[in-house]
Amino acid sequence: MENTAQNPLIKHFRQPAIYITLPSRGNFWDPSAINLPPTGEIPVYPMTTKDEILIRTPDALMNGQGVVDVIQSCVPNIKNAWAMPSVDVDAVLIAIRIASYGNEMEIDAKCPKCGESHKYGMPLGEVLSKIQCPNYDKPVEDNGLKIYLHPQNYFSLNETNQRSYQEQQLMRTLTDPNLDEKVKIAEFSKQIARIVELNIKVIVDSTACIVTNEGVTVTDPRFIQEFYENSSKQVIDKIKKQLEKNSTDASVPPFNVKCSECQEDFVVPVTFDYSSFFGQSS
Ligand SMILES: [Zn+2]
Repeated sequence: MENTAQNPLIKHFRQPAIYITLPSRGNFWDPSAINLPPTGEIPVYPMTTKDEILIRTPDALMNGQGVVDVIQSCVPNIKNAWAMPSVDVDAVLIAIRIASYGNEMEIDAKCPKCGESHKYGMPLGEVLSKIQCPNYDKPVEDNGLKIYLHPQNYFSLNETNQRSYQEQQLMRTLTDPNLDEKVKIAEFSKQIARIVELNIKVIVDSTACIVTNEGVTVTDPRFIQEFYENSSKQVIDKIKKQLEKNSTDASVPPFNVKCSECQEDFVVPVTFDYSSFFGQSS
């Protein structure tokens, strides 16, 4: 009988703890990747035991799958977190932390004036409400072209981060004094080529479309990639500058504290080292 009956415990399953409005407000999402209610507010559930284990497993975090699984478990309206625009990632993770452990996160901060370290309670809800989506409406203009940017999605962001981490590791091995000089030079030029490729990839993934002065709109990533590979440094620099600005505009604002020793006001950056961000419940 118990097999066919509905579980009487169902109403005791975890419930949404908070509702959030995404910084993107649902823009830049593939419609199939999210179920956005008309209010724009989506429910966030606390982590299960399985989620907690996943978010603390270094391998699952490194390849991004752990973060994706936890997001889809705690925010069921998100059907495919790989497709999530980068501007929503931090906000969603902060919301999951609030839903799981409460609004306040205890942090240690050292006063730059008197050098005393104290614990401060960071109100994550306030931090969350300050995250802004950069303005993507204004194109980067160059030589009659209008280049429209958009946020990278989580899949591309994660891939970029992983590859840039690997490049850094490889770069470090090249400083090995026992390495043969010829091998070193060959490896070094390969390395440079990969870094250039990675830089181009970030720009391609961040480009929504390019409109020519004849009014032709180019959206095919292969054409866009080919254009960047054959562009002057000036065009690439303009886009990089805009991407840096967007990244600053979208970043989590630092948290203001007053030193309890000398009353000095100072700011503490909010960092997303997942193992510590999700590592403790207080
Ligand atoms: Zn102080």
